[in-house]
Amino acid sequence: MKAALWYGKNDVRVEEIKEPKVEKGTVKIKVKWCGICGSDLHEYLGGPIFIPVENPHPLSKNKAPVVLGHEFSGEVVELGEGVNNFKIGDRVTVEPIVACGTCPACKEGKYNLCENLGFHGLCGSGGGLAEYTVFPQEFVHKIPDSLSYEKAALIEPITVAIHSLRVGSFLTGQTALVLGAGPIGLATIESLKAAGASLVIVMQRKSIRQEYAKRSGADIVLDPNEIDVVSEIKKLTNGVGVDISFETTGAQVGFDIGVNSIKYDGTMVITSIWEHEINFNPNVVVFTEKKLVGTLAYRHEFPAAIAQMSDNRIKAEGYITKKIHLDDINTEGFDTLTGPDKKKHVKILVTPDKSLL
Ligand SMILES: [Zn+2]
Ligand SMILES: [Zn+2]
Repeated sequence: MKAALWYGKNDVRVEEIKEPKVEKGTVKIKVKWCGICGSDLHEYLGGPIFIPVENPHPLSKNKAPVVLGHEFSGEVVELGEGVNNFKIGDRVTVEPIVACGTCPACKEGKYNLCENLGFHGLCGSGGGLAEYTVFPQEFVHKIPDSLSYEKAALIEPITVAIHSLRVGSFLTGQTALVLGAGPIGLATIESLKAAGASLVIVMQRKSIRQEYAKRSGADIVLDPNEIDVVSEIKKLTNGVGVDISFETTGAQVGFDIGVNSIKYDGTMVITSIWEHEINFNPNVVVFTEKKLVGTLAYRHEFPAAIAQMSDNRIKAEGYITKKIHLDDINTEGFDTLTGPDKKKHVKILVTPDKSLL
């Protein structure tokens, strides 16, 4: 079968590889659509980050080249021994977590914090940028007929946002600031509106992404090049600041505005992955009892994301900005997402099946 494999920085190849076989407790999925994610781009431009290169991943026992793709939907085509929750033809998505199940975090149910955490589509256990993949049934989720295969490929990034709200203990009626309107920023805006935020402010520099933020439900979009975002937010919130902020830019400016725009005792949730260290004086949280919390991936939230997307509480309208064939992943996928038009794109979806294009 065909698959996109990461060989190294700037080196992704579409090759023929062996079709994966079902094992006990796993299902085989024929992939319909798979999104290209920011972390795939990080691996492409500056990797390896999550991809095992020197030593095999402790759980997958594999190392590069690895099959990419962790945001995907597909159809069940084969069942391993002992699988009785699924049948051939089921429409599904995969929660792409590879966890040991036995470490202290896993035993607490916090499998996204597994000490040997890996991601399907990064750690060498297969992936969605291929014709087929095989995965344990516990991490496969059925999707209803009301949700298209295209939209189902967006469940994974939406779930990242839903988890970040939980980690930040967001409450209905609170005010929020989202730093950045890339794919995860947009997902956060929509999740906040769906969860009943009373005001969602977005910090985003001038680009088409400001329009995307509004379409996703942002009440106000502020450009740090044009306005003092922190004092504007104070004005909009009776002089105190927002209850919670979500950092999705991975840049100093996002961090600074995010922490300075929350009220006393407020929370900043950090969703972004950082390529560099930044300056931080702890006094900004000490004198005001502000809280900084990190969030990684998701745990137990796929059903909530599927429910909210199925009945349109979360629409993810306009997220899919391009659909391409697996063969064209470099020219139409990675090149586009790193080229001059990159800000126009939210999600590029890839299919191994020409009949879907
Ligand atoms: Zn991702
Ligand atoms: Zn574990």
